[in-house]
Amino acid sequence: MKYVGAHVSAAGGADQAVIRAHELDATAFALFTKNQRQWKAADLAQEDIEKFQAACEKYRFPAAHILPHDSYLINLGHPVEEALQKSRDAFIDEMTRCQQLGLTLLNFHPGSHLQQIEEEKCLARIAESINIALDKTEGVTAVIENTAGQGSNLGFRFEHLAAIIHHVEDKSRVGVCIDTCHAFAAGYDLRTEEACAQTFGDFARIVGFKYLRGMHLNDAKTALNSRVDRHHSLGEGNIGKTAFAWIMGDKRFDDIPLILETVNPAIWPEEIAWLKSMDGRHNKD
Ligand SMILES: [Zn+2]
Ligand SMILES: [Zn+2]
Repeated sequence: MKYVGAHVSAAGGADQAVIRAHELDATAFALFTKNQRQWKAADLAQEDIEKFQAACEKYRFPAAHILPHDSYLINLGHPVEEALQKSRDAFIDEMTRCQQLGLTLLNFHPGSHLQQIEEEKCLARIAESINIALDKTEGVTAVIENTAGQGSNLGFRFEHLAAIIHHVEDKSRVGVCIDTCHAFAAGYDLRTEEACAQTFGDFARIVGFKYLRGMHLNDAKTALNSRVDRHHSLGEGNIGKTAFAWIMGDKRFDDIPLILETVNPAIWPEEIAWLKSMDGRHNKD
């Protein structure tokens, strides 16, 4: 079965994110465990951890259907040693917060070479950053998100994700999240069922569905291969509704968080209800 939700605000505490997800009638959700635009945050208080866990239990959100996202400031492939260290420390802190909350996934954008080091070197550096964080934490899987390839951001080719995974030592704690808007902006067509089958066939061959830990379901304001990341509401952008119905009908996307980061939170309840209504429509055994 499919688990669908949105990236909800954690204003007022992580437990408030759970309540917001419940109010959307979601069965999955995403959140930031700290302010995503700041490097430092106060440590989680035991009381906040308990409130979060009680809310997750009350509203029936298991850790496997919750996809926390890290800070936008972190660059695990930073070419400059000092800045790389700062990012690695912040990432370990993010992983630790997830561990403390009882969460098992952490979604992050891989990193950028800033035109200062080669792609391959940057990908290896990102993998090394993941190795360090996995070594210092327990029970949390590092979930690499594909990107639109804006600027010098890596992770826009499935081959980049595969290369990072290749260099990660503990393969049981590395995974990927595919953002449909990012994939489309990076040149992976999703506008027809045939295009979806082709794109996810490439994904299966190059990365493998066994690494898929979550999806970001976003339509795109920008064009195919534009390399510009602008999300849109489902069916209102250049991808169109076909892709989302196709994903909901494919069992390979079962049992993972499917998260909306669409631009109009006011219609999230309708988007979630529509996605749920598409669940398993074309399922074949
Ligand atoms: Zn995303
Ligand atoms: Zn995006």
